[in-house]
Amino acid sequence: MTNIEEYIPIVGQPIIDDLKLLAEKLKGKVIQHINSTVVGGGVAEILSRMVPLLRELEVDTRWDAIRGGEHFFEVTKKFHNALHGRSEEITQRDFDIFLETSQKNIDALDIHGDIIFVHDPQPIALIKKKASNKWIWRCHIDVSNPNQQVWKFLKNFITSYDSAVFSAPSFSQRLPIRQFLISPSIDPLSDKNRELPQETIDSVLRKYNIKKDKPIITQISRFDRLKDPVGVIEAYKQVKKYIDCQLILAGGSAADDPESAQVLEEVKTRSGHDKDMHILLLPQDDIVVNALQRASDVIVQKSLKEGFGLTVAEALWKAKPVVASNVGGIPLQIKHKYSGLLCHSIDGASFAIKQFLTNPEYAEKLGQNGREHIRNNFLITRHIREYMLLFLSLYHKEDVVYL
Ligand code: UDP
Repeated sequence: MTNIEEYIPIVGQPIIDDLKLLAEKLKGKVIQHINSTVVGGGVAEILSRMVPLLRELEVDTRWDAIRGGEHFFEVTKKFHNALHGRSEEITQRDFDIFLETSQKNIDALDIHGDIIFVHDPQPIALIKKKASNKWIWRCHIDVSNPNQQVWKFLKNFITSYDSAVFSAPSFSQRLPIRQFLISPSIDPLSDKNRELPQETIDSVLRKYNIKKDKPIITQISRFDRLKDPVGVIEAYKQVKKYIDCQLILAGGSAADDPESAQVLEEVKTRSGHDKDMHILLLPQDDIVVNALQRASDVIVQKSLKEGFGLTVAEALWKAKPVVASNVGGIPLQIKHKYSGLLCHSIDGASFAIKQFLTNPEYAEKLGQNGREHIRNNFLITRHIREYMLLFLSLYHKEDVVYL
């Protein structure tokens, strides 16, 4: 595990001193995170770095995941899509399945924290176990325009929490509890983001049979329709008419995402027989993701909806030029024409990719600006500081808390 002092050259001594001071004030409190998977997706990504780092700061932090069967995760995936505004038919049977599995977890899970930090809708019903401890509901998804049937169902649980946390201002909702705006973050020292020797990058490219003879455009994401992999292929095809380039569309699957196999098949069908299109089903391997991002000339994140989009922060931290959709938390990271290019369509994406490929100096400048923007706003040290302030605020009654 990384030592907290190793962050000093990246963020400076005062920030680390501040973290130690806040951690001191949390001595004696147990923080228990609960989510739905320990592998795959942004939440697991953040917790796998944050939990050990809080422990390193001597904040007693635990992490549990709920259990659920195939039907439960099909229902929660429907909830996820509906909250993102996709039209989904949700039946009483779906709600019953959700409540049945929730009850099993309520019975089975040992709740022992002073502060229970519940991530996303899947474990939300655990709040029924609330006693004298403090409960936070952390929403990682874009709920700017949620399906009302699902939102109302969830709201019955949310209102029993002490506080809720959202990633972007546009996601906040009318709620009778305190709300906090805290953006996610990346860890610059994790295997996903740390510097890599060129040999490592080259060996990953060799492993996947990718040559460096043409510019590489990459999107790394779970195979999920909301990540619009087919849109990425269409944008690449438009670019390819003018610039000889190659596309990497790579992703693994998350344990709580049952749709990915089907989406991967659709993507493979769309890609046809183009030898410059590399559709990769990745193992859970952070060095591979890191190497593919570093090997790329342009990184794309053409999501239709996005809670935050860690992949954007990961790419910007590597000083890559990024083309990403103007949705969810992405515009917090990309200031158009300053730290990347925002797009609204396939045409827009292909135009922006061409701009970067034909103007390497511009691409480099925006990549460098992006790296500084991430350093100042979206590293794990800032995130941990805000979480610790949030924990402390739970023991104070004031209505307004400035982070
Ligand atoms: N990721 C990964 N392997 C993959 C696909 C994604 O490690 O094959 C990581 C990616 O690097 C990022 C996280 O999973 O750290 C995805 O987070 P994001 O916020 O971009 O999207 P989410 O999957 O949470 O919707």
